[in-house]
Amino acid sequence: MFETAIAGSLPKPSWLAETEKLWPEWKSSGADLDRAKADATLLWLKVQEDAGIDVVGDGEQARQHFVHGFLTQVEGIDFAHKVKMGIRDNRYDAMVPQVVGPLRLAGRVHASEARLARAHTGRRLKFTLPGPMTIVDTVADRHYGGGKEGRIRMAFAFAELLNQEARALAADGVDIVQFDEPAFNVYMSDAVEWGVAALERAAEGLTCKTAVHICYGYGIKANIDWKGGLGEEWRQYEQVFPALAKSRIDQVSLECYRSHVPAELMRLLDGKDVMVGVIDVASDVIETPEQVASTIATALRHVPAERLFPCTNCGLAPMRREVAEAKLAALAEGAALARARHGR
Ligand code: ZN
Repeated sequence: MFETAIAGSLPKPSWLAETEKLWPEWKSSGADLDRAKADATLLWLKVQEDAGIDVVGDGEQARQHFVHGFLTQVEGIDFAHKVKMGIRDNRYDAMVPQVVGPLRLAGRVHASEARLARAHTGRRLKFTLPGPMTIVDTVADRHYGGGKEGRIRMAFAFAELLNQEARALAADGVDIVQFDEPAFNVYMSDAVEWGVAALERAAEGLTCKTAVHICYGYGIKANIDWKGGLGEEWRQYEQVFPALAKSRIDQVSLECYRSHVPAELMRLLDGKDVMVGVIDVASDVIETPEQVASTIATALRHVPAERLFPCTNCGLAPMRREVAEAKLAALAEGAALARARHGR
């Protein structure tokens, strides 16, 4: 009951990459970099286990960014000539690679870190991939014709590749494959119209559990400013949750603590496991176990206990390492407190 998980990313140690950045530069290259990525993955597995997190992950230590990490193994993408593009409906500019030809996987994307993590933890292992709609919103299209039709075609092309990697991850022993779709909170009608279908294509035939993470983004300034203009009630989830409830995806990860998301929207996910965000990623203030337990109690009014998984609101990647470590501990301690209060 109340098993804890993290949304996905964790800060990179200073010997691996630049710190407190969303697109950090690596500190080494070649075999040295591979070794450093593996060491950081092992380090974070140990930290998660020691904190008492139940469903652990690789902390995305082997990828520069949650979207571009996957794209590095996709043929048809020109990484050498990135262009500036407004992403998430022009919330902020990013340097993005260009899709210049038919998309194809050059090989496995995350085999080494998934197998390494599997070999070194007995806990349940969750592995994250970007969702097709969010990928489409983080690349520049020079091949699929642009416009809405082009975006849909490109999304399903990416979904096919994601499915190949997701199946391979399940074969590597991953227990949960999670697709990150922050774009679902930005383009709500597109998400309902074709985003969920593309997501289901990415998850097709998976024998492990499947999840989707939908958030209001990392705790960076552009996102905090955007949230400031969303009003008193954030009802974005209201549009996409009913479509997800009808989908074959098993679990949904959402933002809750210190957001303006009305808790009753979780009811729209009837029948799904709900990973409830009880840790804020936009503040360095460490949650108390009492605050975490209180958020869990609020969610419990709308989600059955056996389907409630306390989680972080989003990834912790751009945070300071010691802050992230303290937040992991708060997450586990708060869940333990809630377990003591609510039963088994
Ligand atoms: Zn997120």
